Amino acid sequence: MWNDKRYHTLDYELKKTFGEKTIKLSIDGNFTCPNRDGTIGNRGCIFCSERGSGDFNSDKNKSITEQIQEQKQIMSKKWKSNTYIGYFQNYTNTYDTVKNLRKKFSEALNCEQISGLAIATRPDCINSEILELLEELNSKTFLWVELGLQSIHDKTAAFLRRGYKLEQFDETCEQLMKRKIKTVVHLILGIPGETKSQMLDSVKYVSAKNVWGVKLHMLHVLKNTDLAEYYQKTGFKILTREEYVDIVCDALMLLNPDTVIHRLTGDGKKSDLIEPLWTLHKLKVLSDIDKELKFRESCQGEHFPL
Ligand code: SF4
Repeated sequence: MWNDKRYHTLDYELKKTFGEKTIKLSIDGNFTCPNRDGTIGNRGCIFCSERGSGDFNSDKNKSITEQIQEQKQIMSKKWKSNTYIGYFQNYTNTYDTVKNLRKKFSEALNCEQISGLAIATRPDCINSEILELLEELNSKTFLWVELGLQSIHDKTAAFLRRGYKLEQFDETCEQLMKRKIKTVVHLILGIPGETKSQMLDSVKYVSAKNVWGVKLHMLHVLKNTDLAEYYQKTGFKILTREEYVDIVCDALMLLNPDTVIHRLTGDGKKSDLIEPLWTLHKLKVLSDIDKELKFRESCQGEHFPL
């Protein structure tokens, strides 16, 4: 048990590390993505929103310092805290020169009360120079790097237009972990064409790597995405809340108990969300996960090692 939870939450982990509630502040580093600028693709991953899968960030035209101040003010209405993590969330946050990356990450780290950095990126956008920079940052601050894998299955990766192979993920993950850089992997549940057992195969694969963290998302169909068009054409099956809760609980039981669970629900913008509308009731989803684990008399890691 992790405080009152049956799974190892990020909230629990950060409180243990920093001694108090620690808040993530979303920053728009004004990056783009090789899957959007024509290097790999022009239209991005099929589900990706106009803001590069980060819809709650500040204005990218503001400086990083201004964004952090603004986000702190917003968050302070909700939580009392003196400890913050700067979260470079949308687009591909290592897709730039090392010089520019160093400048942006240093600006965030130099802001008052910033105790760590979270950097979301693609595994094919971390070369050896960037690895060196990440290693350096890791020696100075509490750093984690997030990789959007979504699924281990080639057919699914092609459907999503992810644009890199599983081997690339394996290689980057290994390089990060070799340098003791905390690595978080994103997986999406409910992708059309995937069975429950395929989704759990992805979970098992990631679990076996003993990564520091995992984010599980329900697939969101957002307005103005190619996925929305595909949904309108095909009306593919969307998981119900009950089905999602069942798969998430199975996934948690497969995951290493040391792996930090960063998220179990998606955070789509209400005005952009087409389906599944039940994800708007985030607390209900989380409470159903708690209830289901209790009903099963189970917890994260019950089936680990696999
Ligand atoms: S890698 Fe991320 S930012 Fe780039 S298209 Fe895919 S979801 Fe969007």
